[in-house]
Amino acid sequence: MSSMDILFDKTVTCAACTNTYTTKKVRSRFVRALRSDSDFCSYYADEENSPLLYYVSVCPECGFSTSDEFSSKFPPQTLHTIKTSISANWTYKDYGNKRTVKEAIEAYKLASYSATLKKEKAIVLAGVYMRLAWILRKEKDHEQEMRFMNLAVNAYTQSYINEDFQSTDMSEIKLLYLIGDLYRRLGEEKQAAVYLSKVIQQQTSTLEKRMVEMAKEAWQEIRERQKQGIK
Ligand SMILES: [Zn+2]
Repeated sequence: MSSMDILFDKTVTCAACTNTYTTKKVRSRFVRALRSDSDFCSYYADEENSPLLYYVSVCPECGFSTSDEFSSKFPPQTLHTIKTSISANWTYKDYGNKRTVKEAIEAYKLASYSATLKKEKAIVLAGVYMRLAWILRKEKDHEQEMRFMNLAVNAYTQSYINEDFQSTDMSEIKLLYLIGDLYRRLGEEKQAAVYLSKVIQQQTSTLEKRMVEMAKEAWQEIRERQKQGIK
């Protein structure tokens, strides 16, 4: 099966400059996840056509970059800031073909910058940082993975505080678990314990038993590490 069949063109209208362009997406019937990490990073049978590479759309005309989670509204002044900070420095570049990992990483960085300037919801920004961290993990770029995981956990924590995850697919217990697991991965075990215990406290009330089980596993891993004296 060639990439031509696996990928298709999606038409996007840029919310910043109204230009219409196409970007690739992976046909869902070709997406087969083999396993996933404790923070939901999925490994695919066909990593060359991973949907992670196509999560972000980049406007070739102005550089404004989004995920499907971005809202269409711009808070006051943000559109102006995007035009002066991104578009004014942009030279035409098309990310709408089959992407290399390097191009996908550039697209994620553009989307995180766009989301920040647009004052997009913290949960949306977190989703961009998190997926970029997963790509960097697969590239075995540990230092950059940690950098973006740290940005992700800060944005997820912000989302938990201001509750902007409500009305998205993210449940509160999943968010708490994810924050806990990311802190664990970052070696911030005290913070990890705070959030993982919030998940475990809900074990009798929640319907999402899997989150409780995963929180207990993460907790166990922290214990094991402490026993071995590994920091
Ligand atoms: Zn544009």
